[in-house]
Amino acid sequence: MQQKAIWAFIAILSAEIGLAQVPASKIEPIGFSSVTINDAFWKPKQELLANTTLKACIYQTETATPRLRNFQKVARKKGEKHEGIFYDDSDVFKALEAMAYSLKNHPDTTLEAKADEWIEMIAAAQQPDGYLNTFYTLNEPQNRYTDMSMHEDYNAGHMIEAAVAYFNATGKRKFLDVCIRWANHFDALFGPDKRHWVTGHQELELALVKLYKTTKDQKYLTLADWLLAERGHRYAKGYTWTDWKDTAYAQDLVPVKQQSEITGHAVRAMYLYTGAADVAAQTGDTGYLSAMLRVWQDVVHRNMYLTGGIGSSGSNEGFSIDYDLPNEQAYCETCASVGMVFWNQRMNSLTGDAKYMDVLERSLYNGALDGLSLTGDKFFYGNPLASNGKHARREWFGTACCPANIARLIASLGDYIYSKDNQGLYVNLYVGSETKMNLNGQEIAIKTTTDYPLNGSIRMDITANGQNNFFLRLRKPGWSDNTVVPGGLYQFALVNKTEPTITVNGKPFKAMLINGYYAIERKWKKGDVVVYQIPMPIQRIQAQEVLKQDQQRIALQRGPLVYCIEGADNDGKAWNIVFPNNASIVEKPMQVLTEKVIGLSASLPSLQINAAGDNVQTIYKEVIAIPYYTWCNRGSNQMQVWFPTTIKDVKLNY
Ligand SMILES: [Zn+2]
Repeated sequence: MQQKAIWAFIAILSAEIGLAQVPASKIEPIGFSSVTINDAFWKPKQELLANTTLKACIYQTETATPRLRNFQKVARKKGEKHEGIFYDDSDVFKALEAMAYSLKNHPDTTLEAKADEWIEMIAAAQQPDGYLNTFYTLNEPQNRYTDMSMHEDYNAGHMIEAAVAYFNATGKRKFLDVCIRWANHFDALFGPDKRHWVTGHQELELALVKLYKTTKDQKYLTLADWLLAERGHRYAKGYTWTDWKDTAYAQDLVPVKQQSEITGHAVRAMYLYTGAADVAAQTGDTGYLSAMLRVWQDVVHRNMYLTGGIGSSGSNEGFSIDYDLPNEQAYCETCASVGMVFWNQRMNSLTGDAKYMDVLERSLYNGALDGLSLTGDKFFYGNPLASNGKHARREWFGTACCPANIARLIASLGDYIYSKDNQGLYVNLYVGSETKMNLNGQEIAIKTTTDYPLNGSIRMDITANGQNNFFLRLRKPGWSDNTVVPGGLYQFALVNKTEPTITVNGKPFKAMLINGYYAIERKWKKGDVVVYQIPMPIQRIQAQEVLKQDQQRIALQRGPLVYCIEGADNDGKAWNIVFPNNASIVEKPMQVLTEKVIGLSASLPSLQINAAGDNVQTIYKEVIAIPYYTWCNRGSNQMQVWFPTTIKDVKLNY
């Protein structure tokens, strides 16, 4: 379908579901390799990632666990057996992908040599027909592709993502060529008029779209589209999956284009919908787009935590029933929040609506960032919204999807800040950074300077030729527009009446708000300066009545950051406080380890129980709240995000 037809369809669909006006052209994110981050919030995190997190990933991958050794065993052909879990290859690839992004942010010849060394090992493990999987090649070569739940294609999808990232970061194509051989091998076996294949863990779909965009070879896009179309027809019967619960778990109950509800495993769902949105963006398939719009509403309106985390249930690492969002038992896998970032970016590019970036920002700064310690060497798998003090980050996991996933997200942050269409430039996230791009033949540059999220003061220096009009579009964050989340699952207790302000070259500018973006159109020229001030009041949040666990409770947010109270600032306790609706709260600049944060301070009633447990006193004391992503960095201790507003709702045990 032609692009015009796509947008005509989106316009009709948008009107039906109440979306604002859609843009006249397609939006293209500016890639990480064109963006230099240099702020005080993300830059140090990318440095920490390069100096500490990646070293931890490398140590775990090649020394502490057999993940990399399995590739060497394949190459040696000595009949050695596979060690570890059948999907461990994927962790090698994800670590490589994070290394690739990091090489752009933080050039490092030693790291690049390490990546090249790994790539040699991977290439040496590829079979003559293009197949590449250490588990089957070492243990069961006769059983290749006999069990769709065994992640052969999932592992390969991560290999493709890593190879594309490495090619974009370094220009080296050896790894990319390995992936092309693998994809051609897979394409020869599966597809229309060939064998059915319902992947047990979605990932290959989105990876194949990346391979298509890199190589321009149409067959990879066709294969991605076909993989999506395979779901929901019970083609998986006869293999491991015979139980309907398994098919719901992997979103295989209903064809993708007919899906309206989120089910099953959260990370599988995120990768599936990211892949579907990617295919829709390339082919204009409206069936995928309308399904995505329905499922997105189901996720955000009924099944998302305040932190942007999803997947409340630990038993299936995913979704249960609508509005079932317990706090202490929240699963909220780090990978699922990373997946929310991927999917929401695609939805933003498809629709031009800033609300997807609002959700992306919420998941990024809260649910995802919480997954990594401030020291860069420990990781959360689950990210609950309350803890009795037993939850702690760990150095690694048996199933180690989360560490490299948060690593690759932070390293690739440059992918999410800016985008463009043929009318101009979008600023989606406020990160001190610089980029250049070609806009309809005109070379333009933008430099953003800000301390966001510490405050909402943002300066943008524009360079352009001064001859052609184009739009600069600045996202007005939902939290600055009295919208906690699209759909209203959470609401601010008080209306914030302070509006953002914009000046262009020192003069106030009244910009139109279109699809959640302030749009400024002019003949931009070198030396133009835009100053955008977004007030960041302390905001109290209440949950809809249907969220039982959050009733008679409030949460706090300032800017994009959700806050929590943890024992480390409060005599070891976080569950004994009452937060009356009228308590006054003040900002308190402070540090959590070396992280500069704006803490929040209030004098609150606190329940004190004597050692015998037979006497309770209420005293007023100063209570400190800190940004949620910084909790549990000073030892394991109690924490909660939703605070009781009356004594009767204090639960000393959840
Ligand atoms: Zn994970």
